[in-house]
Amino acid sequence: MAEVQMADAETFAFQAEINQLLSLIINTFYSNKEIFLRELISNSSDALDKIRFESLTDKSKLDAQPELFIRLVPDKVNKTLSIIDSGIGMTKADLVNNLGTIARSGTKEFMEALQAGADVSMIGQFGVGFYSAYLVAEKVVVTTKHNDDEQYVWESQAGGSFTVTRDVSGEPLGRGTKITLFLKEDQLEYLEERRIKDLVKKHSEFISYPIYLWTEKTTEKEISDDEDDEPKKEKEGDVEEVDEEKETKKKKKIKEVSHEWQLINKQKPIWLRKPEEITKEEYASFYKSLTNDWEDHLAVKHFSVEGQLEFKAILFVPKRAPFDLFDTRKKLNNIKLYVRRVFIMDNCEELIPEYLSFVKGVVDSDDLPLNISREMLQQNKILKVIRKNLVKKCIEMFNEIAENKEDYNKFYEAFSKNLKLGIHEDSQNRAKIAELLRYHSTKSGDEMTSLKDYVTRMKEGQKDIYYITGESKKAVENSPFLERLKKKGYEVLFMVDAIDEYAVGQLKEYDGKKLVSATKEGLKLEDESEEEKKKKEEKKKSFENLCKTMKDILGDKVEKVVVSDRIVDSPCCLVTGEYGWTANMERIMKAQALRDSSMSSYMSSKKTMEINPDNGIMEELRKRAEADKNDKSVKDLVMLLFETALLTSGFSLEDPNMFAGRIHRMLKLGLSIEEEDENVGEEDMPALEEDGGEESKMEEVD
Ligand code: ADP
Repeated sequence: MAEVQMADAETFAFQAEINQLLSLIINTFYSNKEIFLRELISNSSDALDKIRFESLTDKSKLDAQPELFIRLVPDKVNKTLSIIDSGIGMTKADLVNNLGTIARSGTKEFMEALQAGADVSMIGQFGVGFYSAYLVAEKVVVTTKHNDDEQYVWESQAGGSFTVTRDVSGEPLGRGTKITLFLKEDQLEYLEERRIKDLVKKHSEFISYPIYLWTEKTTEKEISDDEDDEPKKEKEGDVEEVDEEKETKKKKKIKEVSHEWQLINKQKPIWLRKPEEITKEEYASFYKSLTNDWEDHLAVKHFSVEGQLEFKAILFVPKRAPFDLFDTRKKLNNIKLYVRRVFIMDNCEELIPEYLSFVKGVVDSDDLPLNISREMLQQNKILKVIRKNLVKKCIEMFNEIAENKEDYNKFYEAFSKNLKLGIHEDSQNRAKIAELLRYHSTKSGDEMTSLKDYVTRMKEGQKDIYYITGESKKAVENSPFLERLKKKGYEVLFMVDAIDEYAVGQLKEYDGKKLVSATKEGLKLEDESEEEKKKKEEKKKSFENLCKTMKDILGDKVEKVVVSDRIVDSPCCLVTGEYGWTANMERIMKAQALRDSSMSSYMSSKKTMEINPDNGIMEELRKRAEADKNDKSVKDLVMLLFETALLTSGFSLEDPNMFAGRIHRMLKLGLSIEEEDENVGEEDMPALEEDGGEESKMEEVD
């Protein structure tokens, strides 16, 4: 490497997190260091994609270096390995920003993952692959030339800082980037041709640009003594003389060392080959090169569409969700678009809907124009058809995964949120996606059930599909709302994902059966005998007065108080309007800090208190209220019932202290402890609700 003039070197400090990452990479022992090469080659390939894309609309962009390639140069004398590409290169600003001063969102996540025991080979997924160079190098020098700037050199031995210098004396690259790794003493294996070739085969086989290795070739040549006197002709490198025979012999052998670029990857795109001829390992290796994933894919779908429109595609489902699946700052589009083998772009939003953004793969169209611009893509009819096909194939692929329970569990754990988002967004495919949903239920035990299986278990006379939404399985499985349904033997689905609220709101029905919330008004359970109905009516009547009294006491806190149809054991519960928010939705909305608060005023739950006439507490309350409507204990008990119902129905308490105060008083009563304050006797104890209870007592003391 030519020495660069150091006079105008500018020194920059690594951003703090990047610095931490570098120390971690350098100081922690990882055996899997070889992945650095894959990362750097992958960066080169990305840079080549970029310049090729630009050149589609402006050919002159390639002028400075028309050939697109990746070259690997091991140098045993200087103990360096260089990775050279004729990609887009970096301007000075790019160098400073991309390689050291601006941390990617993945920097911190990657460090956390590492510290949690993750493998260093995951680095590419976190968008910090470049720094893996320091797994094997003590010093890294990046020389780069972008069409819009001069040639610059970036250099760092880590240790907190890097320098950027204008390259006035180095060999001109034309365009592109050369990364030179000064290998650590114990990493010299990466200078061996065999090792490099194997690595490229293993990790970078599907790079669609030629990868050349600078190889050394030694040929033996027999020459006669007199020939030897002639001036030596050499191609590259040195000629070593080897006197194999005695000096007296006329002929002697010499070893001639020559160098050449050897192509070390096949570049025929895998999607052009016949699916039946591709092995599982080949798909896996292609998947890994495409995604930087360190694990194999979970499922693959390789297909071509022919007819009016022709394209080929390979789609993959990963085993896990990426760490930033729902990070809205990052456009996650993992389908690479090619037009007649030429890479066009990898973030084409029109290619696949957002909810399927976890699907990775390639699409190669025969019909799109090569010089297609982003603006054109938005209206492009061909693209719309491709998209429709991709969605269809994705759903097919998910159904294939569902044939294997274990795989599907994995898939569902990772991507159920996406499916539910699909239910919400994709009205055309809603019914098909609904088949893929799985829920725990009152009858499913540890497993989850599909809606289809639910339907097969429906009781005779059961018309609707019942569900309950809530914060967790635990929070809903013993909910008072389920009592009647359980008693009737009706299965209830537990929808405990925040997104379930949204999805079920759109789904509304499955297989002609309505999805009915167990916690909302309008839950009608039929099939009772006339006699039973009559008995019920009578009971209802006898509780009418209590309902009124309770409504008076609770005031605006509830819309109305009615006799319940759905509870069997609990004294009461709070249901919400059929079209308003459920308690769960209210909780979700409250948690959204930036929500539009105007919504909550008319959406927030209008609560109806439902009471259970068969419950002993209610019966006692009825008697007391009948005896004396203004009985203080009735008032207090009603408040307490309301507050406990808030909790069991999934709402939160407006004033937990007041509630606690009431409970404490009940405890004292239970333990027969006399109230300390003589002023507050049993009879004239004010309702805690009205005067703030304990608090006002404190004031008196003050
Ligand atoms: P990622 O490649 O995932 O974005 P890296 O840490 O590997 O993250 O690289 C950071 C950035 O540096 C890249 O996004 C790219 O802009 C730039 N870069 C790295 N290598 C090259 C290269 N060979 N040619 C051009 N730019 C590069």
